[in-house]
Amino acid sequence: MGRIIAIIIAGVMAIVLLPVVFFRGENSERIKSPQIRDAALSVRMYDHSQGKVITLPLDQYLIGVLAAEMPAAFHPEALKAQAIAARTYTLKRLEKAGGRPDGNHPGADICNDPQHNQAWIDENTMANRWGNYSFQTYYEKIAQAVWQTDGQILLYQGQVINPVYHASCGGIGTEDAAEVWSTEVPYLKSVDCSLEKDNPKAKATLALSLPELTERLGPETVRVATGAARGIRILDRTATGRIKTMSFGDLILKGTEVRQKLGLRSTNFSWQTEGNRLIFETLGNGHGVGLCQYGANYMALAGKDYRQILTHYYTGVELAKY
Ligand SMILES: [Zn+2]
Ligand SMILES: [Zn+2]
Repeated sequence: MGRIIAIIIAGVMAIVLLPVVFFRGENSERIKSPQIRDAALSVRMYDHSQGKVITLPLDQYLIGVLAAEMPAAFHPEALKAQAIAARTYTLKRLEKAGGRPDGNHPGADICNDPQHNQAWIDENTMANRWGNYSFQTYYEKIAQAVWQTDGQILLYQGQVINPVYHASCGGIGTEDAAEVWSTEVPYLKSVDCSLEKDNPKAKATLALSLPELTERLGPETVRVATGAARGIRILDRTATGRIKTMSFGDLILKGTEVRQKLGLRSTNFSWQTEGNRLIFETLGNGHGVGLCQYGANYMALAGKDYRQILTHYYTGVELAKY
């Protein structure tokens, strides 16, 4: 009886695992195929999950970045725009290409922690995320976005730009870099993103109890907490309507600090009380500067190509081959 069950289990396992083996095999074949510039440059990446530096051809590294940073279901032109932004970001950190490594990890140019650099995932993680049947299609789609833009990067007045990007501006337009990092950057200005205005993914809510609010903002807000939400005020907004400064009782904070301390998706938020909780509603996801990924997808769906997308979100830039 036990033997029959073992045979059945083995049979089921074989059926489940066969596509994985098949797809992974197919995939390894494809990895070597193109003769491109990106394949000749290598990236030394500190992999936080393995705790060590691994070396990857630039195109393979970029495929892992795209898989981690943008939904694979997005339009191919949006994926190409993302590929060029990711390549530009990487080139800025490659010593052999004249860039400067991030300095956080000795012997590495870059790492895969999105808090430090760009996120990156390996093929097993892609397969887990997408499922084995979508792996083939999505991998191919992302690889094509990288290969078809081979060697292309973004320059502003001949210099490689810092191509920051975010998930969603919520349709209110992107933010000026000076509002977020207090530094003027000529190519990171606020631009229109009204195509994104009906994005159902842009809104989110976060409920925090008053003790949680106090814990995240510090003891100065105790009085606010005991006095419910009455002591919370918006003092100033940026030109796009995001919160610039606000006060919690006597404590005055920048919108960007509040976002970070409370774990809100953006600095464009409102709140209301519900019992002893505050319900925050945010519009948009990320700092709002540079390329808006959802906006890029809406532009692509409206027929724009990757060049039009990139020159829209990065003011005054040009595309070039490294
Ligand atoms: Zn790191
Ligand atoms: Zn947007």
